[in-house]
Amino acid sequence: MDAALKSLSYPTADAARGLTGMRNDNAPAPTPVAAPLPVSSPLPVSAPQARPVEVAPQPASAQRVPDAIAMGRPSREEAEAAVRTLLRWAGDDPNREGLIDTPARVVKAYGQLFGGYSQDADALLERVFEEVEGYSDVVLVRDIPFYSHCEHHMVPFMGLAHIAYYPTKGVVGLSKLARVVDTFARRLQTQETMTAQIADVIESILKPRGVAVMVEAEHLCMAMRGVQKAGVSTITTQFKGVFRDDPSEQVRFLTLVRNKG
Ligand SMILES: [Zn+2]
Repeated sequence: MDAALKSLSYPTADAARGLTGMRNDNAPAPTPVAAPLPVSSPLPVSAPQARPVEVAPQPASAQRVPDAIAMGRPSREEAEAAVRTLLRWAGDDPNREGLIDTPARVVKAYGQLFGGYSQDADALLERVFEEVEGYSDVVLVRDIPFYSHCEHHMVPFMGLAHIAYYPTKGVVGLSKLARVVDTFARRLQTQETMTAQIADVIESILKPRGVAVMVEAEHLCMAMRGVQKAGVSTITTQFKGVFRDDPSEQVRFLTLVRNKG
């Protein structure tokens, strides 16, 4: 997200104010602090220059389906050529027998490993909504396995996701929550972003009283390269609604997740 923001060039000092506002979409509009204008002044001349903020990129967690066309998606042949380049970069010969079909296999595998780019988590939750009259207590789906790739090294990270929400309108099919996890996992990710995206989409589509998401994962980029520590697990959580506002709800969630008896 930072990179995207930096690529925007704002002509005035209003930029800083605009960016601050963007990072807090859910907060009240920030009080302008820079360059107060005379009370009697009509609309400031610089006001139109602040408008681009409204069309600036959404926070990363809101970018559910990147626009493949806008990104200039390469052809299959170009993708296979890129794999051959990386094979040579690794120090091997793409023309040797064992590797001759590898570029085609890798490109095909990418279709599944990164299939989340062509899936829309919003639609997933909207399509299969089941009314369950009268049930308003917590719904918890835990130990959802996922496989993702870190966006920094394109190396796998994998683990378990746990999701809880308090329904207001009814409950969604339980397998759909697992598919929401898959949709976001099968993209280049950070664990933090993925956790926030899962919570965001459930909140915005199901409008529950609260959502809690916990993701625990092992990052192979830590185990295989860099500090080379295996078996380290990273835990991220995102709480919304009653889970954010009431610490006892967080305790209940964590207890339900941990109590495997
Ligand atoms: Zn990494």
